[in-house]
Amino acid sequence: MKYNVTIGMEVHAELKTSSKMFCACKNGLGMETEPNVNICPVCTAQPGSLPVPNEEAIRAVQRVGLALGCNLRLRSKFDRKNYFYPDLPKGYQISQFDQPFCENGTMVIGDKSFRITRIHLEEDTGKSMHPAGAEYTLVDYNRAGVPLMELVTEPDFTNSRDVGMFCQQLRQTLRYLGVSNADMEKGQMRCEVNISLYPEGADRLSGTKVEVKNINSFRSVERAIEYEIVRQTEALERGEQLVQETRGWDENKNATVSQRKKESAHDYRYFPEPDIPPFEFDEAYVEELRRSLPELPDAKRRRFLAEFGLPEKDILTLTEERAFSEYFEAVVSELTEKSQSKEMTAPLDKTIRLSVNYMLTELRKHLTENSQTITDLPIKPENYAEFIAIVADGEINSSAAQTVLGEMYRGGDGDTDPSHIIERLNLGQVNDTEALEKAVDAVLERNEQSVADFRSGKQNALQYLMGQVMAETKGKANPKMVMELLRKKLV
Ligand SMILES: [Zn+2]
Repeated sequence: MKYNVTIGMEVHAELKTSSKMFCACKNGLGMETEPNVNICPVCTAQPGSLPVPNEEAIRAVQRVGLALGCNLRLRSKFDRKNYFYPDLPKGYQISQFDQPFCENGTMVIGDKSFRITRIHLEEDTGKSMHPAGAEYTLVDYNRAGVPLMELVTEPDFTNSRDVGMFCQQLRQTLRYLGVSNADMEKGQMRCEVNISLYPEGADRLSGTKVEVKNINSFRSVERAIEYEIVRQTEALERGEQLVQETRGWDENKNATVSQRKKESAHDYRYFPEPDIPPFEFDEAYVEELRRSLPELPDAKRRRFLAEFGLPEKDILTLTEERAFSEYFEAVVSELTEKSQSKEMTAPLDKTIRLSVNYMLTELRKHLTENSQTITDLPIKPENYAEFIAIVADGEINSSAAQTVLGEMYRGGDGDTDPSHIIERLNLGQVNDTEALEKAVDAVLERNEQSVADFRSGKQNALQYLMGQVMAETKGKANPKMVMELLRKKLV
């Protein structure tokens, strides 16, 4: 019997607003070093305290909805979701039941599209801690009341790869919008997957749904799904009846483990939150939000392809982070200016490609070595563009270029201007024919054997002589000119 797979997802993401969802407490996004520092009567549910909804969080979730092609509800409200747990001080969570802010979206990945059922807003819970060996539990309410968006998809996925791509593209969208850091390792983005199998030919929703939680990386999302597909297939082939349950992903065992059998659906006794009046939005408000959206990754990739004709692989890397792509665009506009004002002789498209090459290799290397991101980069786009123009116009050779860029990165003497650095380090390329000829003659005189070797047909000898001339000029000779001189003198 062949089985097919149906997968649906629920993704939670903490929004990086300045304050919490219903109070003025700082939203520390779990980065607090002490427990219970960002708390107040509202987020610890003291009697008589009242929630005040955070407008910034509502706008953020609505912008996410628009970016993912959702319809925004013009009428919406919060509801109470009742359940008891120590990290939930009110005994209920303020969430949204039947009127989520966003509905019916899609995410397009390549030639496939995946439906998004809804995106709603709620508050995060606190955290319980169970110290090893202790007979008590500690509770930290720093996270209680942090704005949390929940996105629910239709069961449109059939394999782990697509789910992984969906999560990555979602994270990228949240980051482009600047609404969440969506760092899974820090619990700022949490994925839950529902997986069921059905025999070929049967209804695709007829299988027994197993939910997997506690997944804290993209890689684990894919591995948990693959594990479940194998586990469920084997059970079905043995003739076993699968049970509807919640399982957790155990990173160390590389397996899912049963956590809770679901006898019946939870009864959360949802009812409208009486302390927060319903919301009414109008079309003008939705339009204003739509206009506030930045260019999204997919549109940016298509534009980069059309405008710069760069290889697809490079475009993917350039657009991975919004700040990185914006740095690149700032450099392009500087280069365009230099080209128009004839300050740079190399053709513009060549210099753009060169700027991408240096960004993706040397600049990224420096950033990685220093655990920095592009926003920490000390080199201003105008200085970087200047550097690219100098390299493209052949004023320094490639080994000097690496040195100059390294110096710019370190901000040598507080100066990141490449021409100053070239002057200070005396790195300017020697293009003076007379000076080069002198160096070449000196090398040929000292290396009679190599000259003879070359003349007897050993091509390697030419490379050796070339290296000697570069050493003689401390790497500053224009390699093309040296090669021409050598060939002329050796015939
Ligand atoms: Zn508070």
